[in-house]
Amino acid sequence: AKAQLFDKEGPVQVSFKDVAGLSEAKQEVEEIVEFLKNPGRYTDLGGKIPKGALLVGPPGTGKTLLAKAVAGEANVPFFSLSGSDFVEMFVGVGASRVRDLFRQAKEKAPCIVFIDEIDAVGRARGKNPNMGSNDERENTLNQLLTEMDGFGSNSGVIILAATNRADILDKALLRAGRFDRQIYVELPDLNDRKEIFRVHLRNVKIDDSVDVDLLARQTPGFSGADIANVCNEAALIAARKGKNSVQKQDFMDAVDRIVGGLEKRTKITT
Ligand code: ATP
Repeated sequence: AKAQLFDKEGPVQVSFKDVAGLSEAKQEVEEIVEFLKNPGRYTDLGGKIPKGALLVGPPGTGKTLLAKAVAGEANVPFFSLSGSDFVEMFVGVGASRVRDLFRQAKEKAPCIVFIDEIDAVGRARGKNPNMGSNDERENTLNQLLTEMDGFGSNSGVIILAATNRADILDKALLRAGRFDRQIYVELPDLNDRKEIFRVHLRNVKIDDSVDVDLLARQTPGFSGADIANVCNEAALIAARKGKNSVQKQDFMDAVDRIVGGLEKRTKITT
């Protein structure tokens, strides 16, 4: 059997209600959902549907989640691929993977193609003194550019890509007709954190002692992924203690544990 070349997910179950906060980003992608649902409404009037948008923001803020929610809301297939998969790839494989992905996407249009960590392939060409030339990465990037130019803007394929380093991307990617729209996905503020906690506590049995407002106040700087982690960790701590609901103290312990992890992360990067 042929190896799976990229993730092809069946019907996407994620919807906008799973994405807490990010109201501006959601508003911007709402338009993409409309394009996917009713392409004719736009093209009949001579409009050109954008080919892609770049989701820019720190790790764990919900870029992948938002891209999936676009597919879920529009009820279209979601194809995904991560730039980091191309880093150590045999010659020719990266480019052929990209070609394959787009061939399948065109067959299944309307659909979403999601490229996570696009900076791993999309770094500016010929500017990597550490690694000498990385021809395979460049081939992959060139193939991606070729594919983006090769399909008409009204083909029904919309490409969303995510990065936390838009500044290092090859300018060719950002040119008109490619990723000419950038959508910012920021770390959540106090209110957003409350909302994210609520989303992730939907299926957690919590005790009356748990105060979501307080949790949000105690987690400045946390991303959505960190908050999802806190909720899961708290449930595991409570279960380990044989409790039948998760209590305030379990959340405090979980927050401490995640803060510990975050501090380590900062030490490594600075
Ligand atoms: P990375 O840059 O590290 O790939 P990302 O921005 O793509 O991160 P996601 O993978 O979408 O982040 O987020 C990881 C998980 O964190 C999600 O599956 C979800 O459980 C949770 N999460 C992140 N942001 C949100 C949010 N705004 N609302 C609800 N859950 C969130």
